[in-house]
Amino acid sequence: MKTLEKYSVDQYGFYGKFGGAYVPEMLYPNVEELKNNYLSILNEDSFKKEFDDLLSKYVGRPTPLYFASRLSEKYQTKVYLKREDLCHTGAHKVNNTIGQILLAKRLGKKRIIAETGAGQHGVATATVCALMGLPCVVYMGEVDIARQRPNVERMKILGAEVIPATSGSKTLKDATNEAMRHWINNPVDTHYIIGSVVGPHPYPDMVARFQSVISEEIIKQLSNDFGIKHPDYVIACVGGGSNAAGAFYHYMNNESVKLIAAEAAGLGNDTGKSAATTQLGKEGILHGSRTLLMQTPDGQVIEPYSISAGLDYPGIGPIHAHLFDSGRAEFISVKDEEAMLAGIELSRLEGIIPAIETSHALSVLSKKKFGKNEVVVINLSGRGDKDLDTYIKWGKY
Ligand SMILES: *Cc1c(COP(=O)(O)O)cnc(C)c1O
Repeated sequence: MKTLEKYSVDQYGFYGKFGGAYVPEMLYPNVEELKNNYLSILNEDSFKKEFDDLLSKYVGRPTPLYFASRLSEKYQTKVYLKREDLCHTGAHKVNNTIGQILLAKRLGKKRIIAETGAGQHGVATATVCALMGLPCVVYMGEVDIARQRPNVERMKILGAEVIPATSGSKTLKDATNEAMRHWINNPVDTHYIIGSVVGPHPYPDMVARFQSVISEEIIKQLSNDFGIKHPDYVIACVGGGSNAAGAFYHYMNNESVKLIAAEAAGLGNDTGKSAATTQLGKEGILHGSRTLLMQTPDGQVIEPYSISAGLDYPGIGPIHAHLFDSGRAEFISVKDEEAMLAGIELSRLEGIIPAIETSHALSVLSKKKFGKNEVVVINLSGRGDKDLDTYIKWGKY
């Protein structure tokens, strides 16, 4: 394999041994239609123009790359923050939903469905459906609906229909199953917007491409604003892995840039209350792709736990399973308490209250020693407004 392509998807949808499209026969036409069309649509000039225009005028891109001087002083290294928290809707997720809804329109789709756990992806999807005037149905576990009320109401204000998933554990994986079932029954007019670099091929590659605008901008900003050729490290948190895939994307094949992924270790990897997939997971099939996932010996998905709703996913995207397996990226487990402290620290040192997902990436600064002149870029995936209740319940600030 050529070095250049070592970390990109192959023509069958695999990253090394991970990926592929393991879908029931009845979903095959939907996935085939996407697979056969996504690259040519993404490469159309008119698509690129519409995507770029919306990213700049609606989302607010490029997001700043900010040199965090007080944080740098504290850790005796050079920390730069990529401010995805300043995107419209408060996180990186909208980069992907904009890309997918433009694609759906070009495929002639008339309605959008999505699954959501904490509701962040549901809100990002409901937002772009309102923007484009397409009806939107979001599946959400009954348990999640009860514990994520503000996001449920946001989706409804935006005009989406929120349908409770009442099977199984009534959480994200059950919502995903319901959305897949719905898609099987409405293949022709419906597009399913998946929210991370997970699912059957071509979703992981498609979502990574939409999020790759993050590293595209980092490269330009480091060079133009700071005269830096490339960073020594790029750090991001991993739930399914879309913000990390976007921040890593254009550095993946440049091995002088070290990649670090922060995983949520909940109360600890030996407590049964964790979501650190690379530490606790085994190879298997989750949501249509071969990847690492947390499962029982007989292959049932284990319910993950993290204080952060967005990292509370039982697997990781196949691209990350490959980055882990090949040693290209280092995966670091961060516990609830460590993340919360890192979130408060950023608030106090830089006046930025981060999302708790993001706080896991920030915590890496205290877990690993970086050189005084090393350039460390941390992807600030989202803002903390949505997490205020969690900060308050935790209370130690
Ligand atoms: C959803 C979310 C994540 C986790 O999703 P990825 O696909 O792993 O990026 C991380 N940060 C924030 C702010 C989120 O909303």
